[in-house]
Amino acid sequence: MTTRTTFLGLGAMGSALAAAALDAGRPSVVWNRTPGRAGALGERGATIAKTVDEAITGDGLIILCLLDHQSVHAVIDPVAASLTGRTVINLTTTTPNQARELAAWATEHSITYLDGTIMAVPEMIGRPDAVIFYSGAEAAFEENRELLDLWGQSDYFGTDRGMASLRDMAMLVGMYTMFAGFLHGAAMVGAEGVSAAEFARRQTPFLAAMTGQLAGLAATVDAEDYAGADQQSLEFTEAALASLVTASLEAGVHVDVLRPVHDIVRRQIAAGYGRQGTARIFEELRKSR
Ligand code: NDP
Repeated sequence: MTTRTTFLGLGAMGSALAAAALDAGRPSVVWNRTPGRAGALGERGATIAKTVDEAITGDGLIILCLLDHQSVHAVIDPVAASLTGRTVINLTTTTPNQARELAAWATEHSITYLDGTIMAVPEMIGRPDAVIFYSGAEAAFEENRELLDLWGQSDYFGTDRGMASLRDMAMLVGMYTMFAGFLHGAAMVGAEGVSAAEFARRQTPFLAAMTGQLAGLAATVDAEDYAGADQQSLEFTEAALASLVTASLEAGVHVDVLRPVHDIVRRQIAAGYGRQGTARIFEELRKSR
């Protein structure tokens, strides 16, 4: 008999995770702080619990998908004693140290803890392009693969509970800076009456093609051989960035996004590395450790 899975947190993401489990025929109990968000899941066959205590009755797996680290504690601290001996998979976004803190809290209460970070939006849950990173209790990962794999591709990164979150945060840096760069470009062409939609149609394939450069940058960083790098030099990149700054200012666009990149490149050139590969930006960034 399949024991029932408890879902705590029925926001956009928590609901998508629970819906996928229900659609696969898994008995599920759902709870949300604000009542009324569970209706659609009830129609799919979920048992709707009025309280967290009621939701965690039994011995099944518990899935958390709440807003943040603080809300996780708000939900699980009051029921810690009832969670002893249970397995909790936390899919709430946290920092690596917050994940480690939650894992330590779980250990204190004899709870098995697996941390997960979702690299997808709710509509992607259940599709093969959804990826979820996990770290923490390996047995919990293996034993629950059937459920985890319903949501998308499941990648496990070892017993250090912070490692899934670290990768998540690092990937999101790339995403948010790309979004900001795109919006900067949209502001430039927008100043001359070009719509953001038209710009997006051209920018999308260009950025996709540029991701082909990442493996080369990574190889240079891993080899720590910036002098022999088969890529544009810092001097070349500096000239390009200087033009971008000028063109932006001429278009009346703030260079708050672009200027820090230009400054980093200039600092590396001032330190004598102008002929080396642009991947040296990595060295400048990791200096702040
Ligand atoms: P929503 O804002 O839709 O839902 C947040 C959920 O957290 C709600 O169920 C809310 O309950 C609950 N909550 C917030 N504070 C508390 C609290 N103090 N006590 C109890 N419950 C609380 O967010 P999502 O569902 O979209 O996101 C959930 C997690 O998934 C986040 O950590 C997010 O970073 C992560 N994620 C989301 C993605 C997305 O695209 N949406 C993508 C990748 C990860 P209530 O209804 O009562 O407010």
